[in-house]
Amino acid sequence: MDDITLYWILLAAIFAFAVMAFFTLQVISAPYGRHIRRGWGYTLKARIGWLVMEFPAFLIIILIFLAGSRKDNIVSIVFLAMWTSHYLHRTFIFPFLMKGGDKKFPAVLVVFALIFNTMNGYVNGKYLFQLAPAYDISWLYDPRFLAGAAFFLSGMIINLHSDHVLRILRKDPEDGYRIPRRGLFRYISSPNYFGEILEWTGWAIATWSLPGLAFAVFTFANLAPRAFSNHRWYRENFPDYPGQRKALIPYIM
Ligand code: NDP
Repeated sequence: MDDITLYWILLAAIFAFAVMAFFTLQVISAPYGRHIRRGWGYTLKARIGWLVMEFPAFLIIILIFLAGSRKDNIVSIVFLAMWTSHYLHRTFIFPFLMKGGDKKFPAVLVVFALIFNTMNGYVNGKYLFQLAPAYDISWLYDPRFLAGAAFFLSGMIINLHSDHVLRILRKDPEDGYRIPRRGLFRYISSPNYFGEILEWTGWAIATWSLPGLAFAVFTFANLAPRAFSNHRWYRENFPDYPGQRKALIPYIM
């Protein structure tokens, strides 16, 4: 199979995964963190799981960039910097900052995420650094890039800050769950997911690409149902949970 056929098959598969994830996660919460439960087979430490499953997304796009002929294209370098800055943190920093990183994480989820991240890194890198017509430097002044980059950056800041707010809720890794009250948690139960969705929506707009769109759609399909599961879980477990707080989008839902 040639690599263009492979690219299209993987791209279609990501859209298909998004649809499957969205409907499956309405009825089954992914079994990790507060939703972990028995019956999901072999487990490993959460921080190892995160490191292993996110690493392909970090590595593959760099390899495709290096294998391509756009190493001196400024827009390509900017895209690579955006992507790797997210995955550098998610792969090598986030797992080691986690409070409770020694908790169990099902291996089956690691395998699924590893496959997804490999596919996603491949299609995004393949398109941006090899298949798309090379982006001219003027793209950096295009309203689509500017708006997308602004979304991406603000999403990243919201995501990082919200994960930080969650981290400082636990003094000791063995501590249980508490109600987060800082930052965007005043308005929604899962601002870290809101930030992540904003980030990849921004990426889709800034790259104006089908692989970017596929990743943004998948991120929403994966995280929106979990935001609602988390919201329900907070309400069931904390009688004093703030009643006006929404699940995912401030004031809306
Ligand atoms: P969670 O919000 O479920 O948990 C993040 C961390 O905070 C965990 O260590 C968790 O502990 C802890 N935590 C959560 N709530 C509380 C609380 N109320 N009190 C104390 N500690 C708490 O996020 P995820 O683990 O699902 O995701 C982590 C990051 O990965 C997020 O930034 C998310 O956006 C990103 N992500 C991106 C995906 C994508 O599709 N692009 C998919 C999944 C995640 P514990 O483990 O004990 O629950």
